[in-house]
Amino acid sequence: MAHEKAKSGSLLIKGGRVIDPAAKLDAPMDVLLRDGRVAEVAPPNKIRSSADKTFDARGLVVAPGFIDLHVHLREPGQSYKESIATGTAAAAAGGFTSVCCMPNTSPVVDSPEWVAWIQQPERGAMINVFPIAAATHASKGAVITDFGALQRAGAVAVSDDGRPILSDAIMRETLRAASGLNLPVIQHAEDTRMTENCSMNDGPTSFRPRLARHEGCCGIVCGRARYTTRATIHRSADPRGPPFYCRCAESGAPRQARQGSCHVRSYPSPFQPDRR
Ligand SMILES: [Zn+2]
Repeated sequence: MAHEKAKSGSLLIKGGRVIDPAAKLDAPMDVLLRDGRVAEVAPPNKIRSSADKTFDARGLVVAPGFIDLHVHLREPGQSYKESIATGTAAAAAGGFTSVCCMPNTSPVVDSPEWVAWIQQPERGAMINVFPIAAATHASKGAVITDFGALQRAGAVAVSDDGRPILSDAIMRETLRAASGLNLPVIQHAEDTRMTENCSMNDGPTSFRPRLARHEGCCGIVCGRARYTTRATIHRSADPRGPPFYCRCAESGAPRQARQGSCHVRSYPSPFQPDRR
């Protein structure tokens, strides 16, 4: 992989603004890398060791590699849109060193073979790629996949992203099977029975008669869409359950989870704008 080449020798990154929240650092600093690892971080011009190469980072931010938990690489099946090589090259250009890719490709990544395929060197990934496998066959929400086999093949979580798991019975089965493996479950936080044919968020614009009648626009009522998140959290309210992640911008659902002591994390959704 291309980033393997950067793991030998030394590189001095000079004059950048180093931002590292874990180290509570936000200051002009020089950074010395040796054999792919950080060897020294010091105020400007204080590093005495020599380096094979120097990179002028004036005007740039120097930060630990970013991790994106939710990306859509279009392979397998849609390389005319994007390949794993081009998608990860774009991620690397933006500072990302690891991504978790969703399974709603064509075909859906619901087998160990496809999970392994994504990780093969032939895909040309520029950064770490951690596959998220489908929670149900073809992400149809009817029959759960073999989580153990998917995890052994390299899947780091399961999700039917793009579609929610709407069946209580299937979600319960999903959480139960995942908990034995400590495999995170990621729910697409949208009740598609209530958002069918909706193309914008509910509000004054979606009520404009011309839009509603002639353009076919219909507003998503956020409170209804988020119901899936709250209902799923309610079902997963077992502190011993697996990590459960969801896409929700509104604060009520994660707060509800914290009060129930269950193991829930959330990250923003593009279609739920109210953040009370
Ligand atoms: Zn997605």
